[in-house]
Amino acid sequence: MCPPGYDRLRVETYRACTPITWRPRYPVGYSRTVTQAPKTAQAPTAAGGPTRIVVVGGVAGGMSCAARARRLDETAQITVLERGAFVSYASCGLPYHVGGEIEDTGRLLVQTPGSLRAALDLDVRTGHDVVALDPVRRTVTVRAAGGTSEVGFDALVLAVGACPVRPPIDGLDSPRVRTLRTVGDAVGLRRDIEDGARRALVLGAGFIGLEAAEALARRGLAVTVVELADHVLPPLEPELAHLVTTELRELGVNVRVGVGAAAIEQGVDEDVVVLTDGHRVPADLVVLSVGVRPDTAIVEAAGIACEAGAIIVDEHGRTSAPGVWAVGDATVSSDAVTGARRPVPLAGPANRAGRLVADDILRPGSARPISGPVGTAIVRVGRLTAAITGANRAALDRAGTPHRTLHLHPLQHAGYFPGADPIHLVVHVAQDGGRLLGAQAVGTDGVDRRIDVLATAIRAGLDAGDLIDLDLAYSPPYGQAKDAVNLAGMVATNVLDGTLRLWYSEDLPEVRETALVLDVRSTAEYTTGHLPGSLNVPHTELRARLDEVRGAAAGRPVRVLCASGVRSAIAHRVLAQSGFDSASLSGGMLTLRAVLGDAADDVLHVPAPSSCPSVPDTSTPGARRAFQP
Ligand SMILES: Cc1cc2nc3c(=O)[nH]c(=O)nc-3n(C[C@H](O)[C@H](O)[C@H](O)COP(=O)(O)OP(=O)(O)OC[C@H]3O[C@@H](n4cnc5c(N)ncnc54)[C@H](O)[C@@H]3O)c2cc1C
Repeated sequence: MCPPGYDRLRVETYRACTPITWRPRYPVGYSRTVTQAPKTAQAPTAAGGPTRIVVVGGVAGGMSCAARARRLDETAQITVLERGAFVSYASCGLPYHVGGEIEDTGRLLVQTPGSLRAALDLDVRTGHDVVALDPVRRTVTVRAAGGTSEVGFDALVLAVGACPVRPPIDGLDSPRVRTLRTVGDAVGLRRDIEDGARRALVLGAGFIGLEAAEALARRGLAVTVVELADHVLPPLEPELAHLVTTELRELGVNVRVGVGAAAIEQGVDEDVVVLTDGHRVPADLVVLSVGVRPDTAIVEAAGIACEAGAIIVDEHGRTSAPGVWAVGDATVSSDAVTGARRPVPLAGPANRAGRLVADDILRPGSARPISGPVGTAIVRVGRLTAAITGANRAALDRAGTPHRTLHLHPLQHAGYFPGADPIHLVVHVAQDGGRLLGAQAVGTDGVDRRIDVLATAIRAGLDAGDLIDLDLAYSPPYGQAKDAVNLAGMVATNVLDGTLRLWYSEDLPEVRETALVLDVRSTAEYTTGHLPGSLNVPHTELRARLDEVRGAAAGRPVRVLCASGVRSAIAHRVLAQSGFDSASLSGGMLTLRAVLGDAADDVLHVPAPSSCPSVPDTSTPGARRAFQP
């Protein structure tokens, strides 16, 4: 367990795109990018005997390493020491066990010590807590039910993971406060529900917090989610996060953002969580999900170089101590896009690094290096999927990377095929050269595939033009002849070469002061809600009404908008080629509404129903389909 006060590093739980910035303290001999391995890091084999590989931590990275090591070396003596009761369990499946989609706890236990002994001849010891390491004597001290003992190693792999951050909140020691990290945690939450818990407060709206919230709502609890940041899923851009908030509300979840928990008042029948804005929320259950931090107290105590609590490793996972490697949530990585140094608490990077570390131990010299993570992550919230890859706007700003941002709402498959729904896509490309830097998407279908393609493109260093060239699978039930990814490339190249000039929802106050807002939607759409003072000229009528626009602009720039940014782009081309200073709203009214969030109805003018002609409702994805390109 992390000792109290051991909180120098707060890694948001499964918030892959939120780089943690802290002042690095590089140990002597480490380059800034830490690509040079300590020359002494390889494992000398015990004289004449098999290589003794000891792995601390038997879940994602650790078990991946142990299994690969066995496949490479039938003679190695491989011991896995795990403090918990289970190894190789599906931590990512825990929320679905709480929610009841995975009923049987046993399904989460992918392997057992017995199955690992039988299949891979691994010596897996659960209930074995490593309490000290001695990299010089090459021993670890292990505490287990039978007492304390020492285990020697030639190669030691630290896959110790992370533990939940416990912020200094009065009352956090209440027995009603739970975390969701282990099988025991999930079983405990299920028991609480069976024992009659009816109201839950989830503290932290990161990926795991939202998975927990959905699971509890699914079980019929009244759920409140409290998030200190100003929107849920903080790595997600705010304009996409708003869609997730709306979906949470559809699930019946009460969402409170921009507030934290100030105290938890413990009562006999219930606890009351006092929020920083003074609100009091009664709860039978509080799920603490505000982040994780590397579980590295024993590693630091052993003198192994760490950076803000996370183990510093080179590109082969070697630590500063000879014969000691580390992988997973406990280590620092260099972000593949921005170079920011941070732990990336995700299962994929941990599993892959575990495998590569086994290669480096047993095949030094030919092992592939561990690549810097792109930080691809995905979560289901109700009917929606939200996914991210690469850098978000905040990370790019922090890194000082000049970039352009695009908002698109393409359909996930052919519009004429039943079930077409938009994928709300935000893409960042480098201002100079157009390299793809990051992408995020929210939608009901097809989000996973697009984000995976874009993640691959980022890994490959592709630029906007390359996205146009990708041959992606298409038939009407699956995609469009111009896939969402191709479209992103087309829009990006148009922006970069000046064919398309964008303005952004964030610029609205200035635009309303200095420009004519030209709304090129149909009149019916316009009456569903529009910016006061805007001029409505449907894009099909624009060429014939240019003089009217010129008169209304009276020398001011013209800032065009439509529903999704497609028709306004067409209008922009008409205007620009007619001598106007024009720009098209990125993502159109769909993005503007999402950026305005709950304030949209105050900002937009919606005529009273009696004065409205019969107009379509654009408040649902299905209805918005009508206005897609
Ligand atoms: C609820 C939940 C949902 C998640 N969902 C996703 C998801 O959908 N996608 C995704 O990519 N990631 C997800 N993650 C994150 C993912 O599970 C982790 O990134 C991954 O498991 C990290 O692997 P690891 O090997 O570094 O650490 P872990 O898998 O956490 O394993 C570390 C192990 O080391 C043991 N240990 C620590 N110290 C000692 C010691 N001193 N002695 C003995 N044993 C020790 C711990 O008991 C633990 O079992 C989720 C995590 C949780 C908790």
